[in-house]
Amino acid sequence: MNLRTGLAFFVLPAVLSIVLPSSRLAAQALPPQASLGYSDFSAEARLEEKFMAVPDPKLAGEELKTLTIEPHLAATPEDRKTAEYVASKFRAAGLQTEIVPYRVLLNQPKVERVEAWDETGHLLMSGPTREHVEGDPAADNPRVVMPFNGSSGSGDVTAEVVYANYGRAEDFKELAARNIDLHGKIVICRYGSNFRGVKVYLAQQRGAIGVLIYSDPQDDGYSKGDPWPMGPWRPETGVQRGSVQFLFKYPGDPETPGVASTLDLPDSVRIPNPSGPDGSQPYIISIPLSYHDAAPILQALKGPSAPQSWQGALPFRYHMGPGGEKVHLVSLEDYQRRIIWDVIGKVEGSQEPDAWVIVGNHRDAWVYGAVDPNSGTAAMLEAAHGIGTLLRQGWRPRRTIVFCSWDAEEEGLIGSTEWVEQQGRALDHAVAYFNVDAGVSGPDFTASAVPSLKEFIRNIARSVHSPLGGTVYQTWRLKPSVDSEHQSNAPPITGEDVHVGDLGSGSDFTPFLQHAGVPATDIESTGPYGVYHSAFDDFAWFTQNADPHFLYLQQMARVLGLEAMRMADADLLPYDYVAYAREISVYIEAAKHRAPDAGLSSLDFAPAQAAAARFSVAAERAHVVETTPSSVPSGDLARLNLALRQTETALLSDAGLPHRPWYRHTIFAPGELTGYAAVVLPGVNEAIDAQDRNLAAQQLQVLTQALNRAASVLETVH
Ligand SMILES: [Zn+2]
Repeated sequence: MNLRTGLAFFVLPAVLSIVLPSSRLAAQALPPQASLGYSDFSAEARLEEKFMAVPDPKLAGEELKTLTIEPHLAATPEDRKTAEYVASKFRAAGLQTEIVPYRVLLNQPKVERVEAWDETGHLLMSGPTREHVEGDPAADNPRVVMPFNGSSGSGDVTAEVVYANYGRAEDFKELAARNIDLHGKIVICRYGSNFRGVKVYLAQQRGAIGVLIYSDPQDDGYSKGDPWPMGPWRPETGVQRGSVQFLFKYPGDPETPGVASTLDLPDSVRIPNPSGPDGSQPYIISIPLSYHDAAPILQALKGPSAPQSWQGALPFRYHMGPGGEKVHLVSLEDYQRRIIWDVIGKVEGSQEPDAWVIVGNHRDAWVYGAVDPNSGTAAMLEAAHGIGTLLRQGWRPRRTIVFCSWDAEEEGLIGSTEWVEQQGRALDHAVAYFNVDAGVSGPDFTASAVPSLKEFIRNIARSVHSPLGGTVYQTWRLKPSVDSEHQSNAPPITGEDVHVGDLGSGSDFTPFLQHAGVPATDIESTGPYGVYHSAFDDFAWFTQNADPHFLYLQQMARVLGLEAMRMADADLLPYDYVAYAREISVYIEAAKHRAPDAGLSSLDFAPAQAAAARFSVAAERAHVVETTPSSVPSGDLARLNLALRQTETALLSDAGLPHRPWYRHTIFAPGELTGYAAVVLPGVNEAIDAQDRNLAAQQLQVLTQALNRAASVLETVH
């Protein structure tokens, strides 16, 4: 049942708490009288009410329209214009604002060509076909960049084709089991299930010389519902652009892992070959395709009939190949070091200016980016508008609030990663990073967070009205949204409240949490959205399908702003380490159960379990302190806050993960073979997957040390 229709009978927010059937729900709709970390929440609650009156749907709609008036790919003049626009909005809100440039390696397409011939030399297709539908003239703008893959290799190849379903490890395994060799072949696979960079990574490892990644109508086209402009799903010519960078190795500028690409960075510091074994880029070429262009290639393909789960929604039987045709791919990429622009706006904290609460959203888009990312930008601008209004009324947050508009996220989280790398140890004092990316594509609220902030985000959702009536929390609870591409390997936590996901990758929280150890959240309001990374993700699509009255932009502005305010003003930082400890214990238990299946039954989990138990005891004690901040002498607050914050940092390992030292978090990383989804206990679990006993034992030791470190820091909070 669709949430919108399902809830249509109680549309008046003010009366929802009366008409909702469950008294428990009704109680949760009330504004909170207390909040973790606050000795007296009443003043903050009044401030929050004032704040929530400011974000304005009409203004948010105008901001979104301005941001999406032209395509604004990173490092283009139109991108620069959006940076100046966001900077002007930050300044108008009273933020100390600067535009921070970086010089980073980016490709732009010169030539993209795909042609196929059958065995008799008859031309089957020649593309790519331009994205076009009747009724959406914005897509015909000549400034729309031709579909391409960020970080693609550059070249010209002709070869036979093999179909690899979603391009997952298990799909390639299936091909190998049938003795279908990929050396010298072009792989065609469909979008979905994993990050596109993983598809190219696995194809390259197996000897393929080119990859075509297409959007099957089964996954986001007519099989799901009416295509744009009738409905929200991908039309025949719609293409998903996107980066194929190996983000699971390291994000950011491919030439400068761990180092900020400032304008004065000497070239000698840059790594010589980012598509070499230590780099983050493929050396083979890849091109994204619409199903209009993929269909003739798939239809001509011979070889065994595809397994049933590989069959998509095109009207013919899929085959695995090779045979039946030859395909010619040209991808000529213009690689240059280009200037990108982050926009940073600050409000200095009155009491703990070094403790930063960071709010971030990327601004660059593959084309217009109405949903991805500028619905998030409009929400962030209205959050800044609300904070600015409070500033003018004399409020100063206890801690510093930093608003960040990132550039070149689409190419590989580049603007955020370079900024994080530039801040270095200054981020040891950053108390939270609150991300929003594709902020609004529909009415279904969803969130991911580090476990210490899961209850925090639920509480924020309890304080904000939903356009459907009631609170965001209530609508979220009635229809928990499931995003299959962002499913982690985390085992389910029993007795959990509404589910908050785990942070994998695919957006700008990655450098903060997984490199710098800053606790993070990511929020979204989702719905049917089939135009991701195409020319059709534009203002017209947004107003027809996602949020005609911009009420969800307002909702997300309120959620984001409240996250910042509540974190910035708390007496004691409201991290829930009890939940964190519980999750870690469950993760360890699950890894222990998996190990025998990988032939590693003698691995000793006892030290890790003991360390987790110690962390849990420390967490219970810290929680008592956090719930009664009024009993803490004010001279002790700074020390306790530092310890609460450093507990997360203690979970980093200096050496980083095996084969990918940039990723330092011992509890969360993007999966090496999934890319978007989080893998929990990455060092341990990936060693188990690889059936590597020595590595698994060593990574268990690293985990045990991290947990003991975190416990000893947290034990000082009492
Ligand atoms: Zn995005």
